[in-house]
Amino acid sequence: MSLEDLYREVILDHYRSPRNKGHLDSPDFRAEGVNPLCGDEITIDLAFDGDQVSQVAISGQGCSISQSSASMMSEAIKGKTKGEIEDLTKRFRDMMSLDGEADIGLDPDRPGAVLGDLESLQGVRKYPVRIKCASLGWNVLLEALDGEPLT
Ligand code: ZN
Repeated sequence: MSLEDLYREVILDHYRSPRNKGHLDSPDFRAEGVNPLCGDEITIDLAFDGDQVSQVAISGQGCSISQSSASMMSEAIKGKTKGEIEDLTKRFRDMMSLDGEADIGLDPDRPGAVLGDLESLQGVRKYPVRIKCASLGWNVLLEALDGEPLT
């Protein structure tokens, strides 16, 4: 299996079986966003325990790239602080913004460098229109974190 096939499998797995799907009963933060270019919609609920994300729930509809990216993101942010999530978001955006030949800085020896399943989305870089799909969940996430607490 080529790396590209492997990445495609990971994306489809998250699309078919989205992680942390649904809503929280009493989220601390909630935000929603759309990508009108593709018709993607994502809503994110976050609950904190102290300064760490204790629960996350994602709902939405749209293409496989938008929904799988949000599913992977929901797994990656659990237990993280707002600062750590902002750092992760920056690394994800860096990965998506560099061209295919560039070193994307995912050296596993670098602390915290591993993006896990999210690395499967790096092939999307070749399709600029789809980058907006992959980025939607992250934009909504930052909006939720910067919003007024609900509770
Ligand atoms: Zn899309």
